[in-house]
Parts: sequence; structure tokens; C-alpha cells
Amino acid sequence: ARAPATLLPELDASLLTTTYNPNPRPVPLPGSPEEASQQVCTDHMIQAKWTVSQGWHAPALLPYGPLSLMPTCSVLHYATECFEGMKLYRGHDGHLRLFRPHLNCARMLMSTQRIALPSFPPSQLLHLITKLCATDGEKWLPRDRPGAFLYIRPTMIASDPALGVQQPKEALLFIILACFPSMDAPAGGMRLLASKDDMIRAWPGGFGYAKLGANYGPSLVAQGEARARGYHQILWLFGDECRVTEAGASNFFVVWRTREGQVQLVTAPLGAKIILDGVTRRSVLELARERLGKGGQGLEKVEVVERNFTMVEVEEAVVEGRLLEAFTAGTAFFISPIGHIHFRGKDLEVPMGGGEAGVYTALVKGWLKGIMWGTEQHEWGYVV
Ligand code: PMP
Repeated sequence: ARAPATLLPELDASLLTTTYNPNPRPVPLPGSPEEASQQVCTDHMIQAKWTVSQGWHAPALLPYGPLSLMPTCSVLHYATECFEGMKLYRGHDGHLRLFRPHLNCARMLMSTQRIALPSFPPSQLLHLITKLCATDGEKWLPRDRPGAFLYIRPTMIASDPALGVQQPKEALLFIILACFPSMDAPAGGMRLLASKDDMIRAWPGGFGYAKLGANYGPSLVAQGEARARGYHQILWLFGDECRVTEAGASNFFVVWRTREGQVQLVTAPLGAKIILDGVTRRSVLELARERLGKGGQGLEKVEVVERNFTMVEVEEAVVEGRLLEAFTAGTAFFISPIGHIHFRGKDLEVPMGGGEAGVYTALVKGWLKGIMWGTEQHEWGYVV
């Protein structure tokens, strides 16, 4: 039996050791193919090892470079892995910021628990993330590039060098910072291909709510088909009634007018545990409730609703002229307006307010941008 975790050393960021990179690399130029390649990471990374017998070892900040794993390593065979996706933003006020990082650290813990990886205090993960950001942020997000960002990827893998199918006895936590292409939404909006029932992303009792690598690899066949047919992403449907769940690795929102005339912002609920509890999703819901819930500023009152809804309802709203806007929401591609959804042989056109984005999509995006890049001082902005 495992010793109770409390008797073993916890993950402790204050024990971090530091080895600076003797060969730091140049920062890719903005807009360069190198920057867009998603292969370039900053000069350093953080690693922390865990073993079932000794708990968490002291974490280390060290030069970015390859990991050394045995071919028998658990993660390579049984997908014992989870991760997070966050960004470090260079603000217009010169500060480096994270956006609601406590939520990512708590979600990482939840993901580790779904896949039998070791627990840790989320606050210690946040300290480690902050430390890496503080080490590499100044160089990699120069002050003369406000609005720039790096992508942060905290990851945990089971590193047991043994083929037995069993709960991990060794694990490795690592954190890297990667260059990421600009996240401009595609002109004309995103084109989504609704999934067919032979391709399901997640199911009740499964693990779609956790950020496990095992959710992503098997989605790539459908994603490849979407790209080959000229769509940007899959809109994942669930069940015979074609419930709308998520789009690619983003949550999905519609703004529609009900037949009774009420404007609603709608997204699928988390209850069935088949959808990721997105930080962006949550933030959109909270801001919309606070800032659109009462109307004003020349806008109608918007009702913010988390409920199951189907592609048939979306199609009816399009046909009846009640669909006002739709957008995806996630860290990587931020708020992206949707222009088309392909469903059962038909390309449904989604209004975009005659421009780059509908009014509600643009408002939500603007609010979030302000908080992330520090033009609005808000408790969600976490200065590094
Ligand atoms: N759904 C899935 C499946 C995702 O992978 C992501 C990206 N983490 C999201 C939604 C959006 O979540 P967040 O806003 O926290 O990035």
C-alpha cells in the first residue's frame, strides 16, 4: 500500500535549485517561421521528480533540453500524462502577467488525480511557474513588445521504467515556456466541421473533463479530416440528439435570441464531465453575467445560460434568423468568432455582425484582453 502522502515530502518550491543555461539562444523575431514553429522554447525549464517511496524531490530550474527516459517508461505506453496550457503576457504597462493561474494549478491537480499521478499543493506549482516566468520573461518578452506572450506548458508524466500496467511509482513534473504564433482569428471567422457519431471526443464516465494527453491524440484523425476539407476545427457533438460540446481545444458559445425574444449567451454545462472547465469559458461567463446581465451601454440585457443544447437548435436559430453570433474560447486561440458550421451536409452561416466579430464576441474579447495585458487593472491579472 502507498504510504499516506502527508508523511512524505510535498512538492516544495522553496527548495528549487538553479543552474543557468551557459548557451542561451536568440529570441526568434516576431512573425518569423521559427516563432510560429512551436518548437522554440526559452532558455530554461523546471523539473521535479516524485517517487512513491520518497515523495517529491527538490525541484530544479535548469537549461531547456531533452528528457532522458527509458523505453519502458509508463507514459510512452499507457498515456499516463496530464498537462496545462497557460500564457505569460507582456502588458502594455510593462508588467509580466499570468491570467487566473490558480485555476490552472487547481485543474492540473484534478487532472493528475484522474490518471493516478501524484498530488501536490497547487500553490507550489504556481510558485514554480512564476519562478520560470520571472527567469526567462524579461529576455523572451522584451519590454518593447507589449501585447506579446509566451505559452506555458506544465506537464506531468509517469516515468516508471517498467512495463507493468499499474499506478505510477515514479513521476516527473516539468514546466516549459514556448514561443507561439500570433493568435489572430482567421478572416471570415472560424469554419467548424460538426463531428459525426463515429468520432466522439468524450463520454460520461470517461475523462473528457481532465486535461489528459489521452484526450488529444485520438482527436487528430477528425481534426485532420476537418483541415483537409477546409475547416479549422471539429465541433464535437455528443449523443443521438447531437448535443454541442466543445470546438477543437476550446469551449464553444452561441449568442442567440430565443423565440420569446430574449438574448442569451449559451454554452454547454460541465455536469456530465465530458467538457473541460476552461479558464476562458469561466471568465467569459463571469464577465458576461456581471457586465451584460443588466443591459445598458446601448445593449440589451443578456441572459447567461449553461445548458445542454443541440446542433438542431443551432440550425433552427440560423434558419429563423435568431442566431446572432458564435465563438470559441480558450487560452491558445483566445476568443475566435465563428463564421460557418458544417452540419449534416449543410454549411450554416453564422453572423459576424458584418465585420470581424459580432458585438458580444468583440466585447468579451476586449474585456479579457484588457485584463491580460494590463490595460484594465483586475484581480484576475497576476503580476509575475
Ligand atoms: N476545451 C479543451 C478540450 C481544451 O483543451 C481547452 C484548452 N485548455 C479548452 C477547452 C479551453 O480551456 P482554457 O480556457 O482553460 O484554455
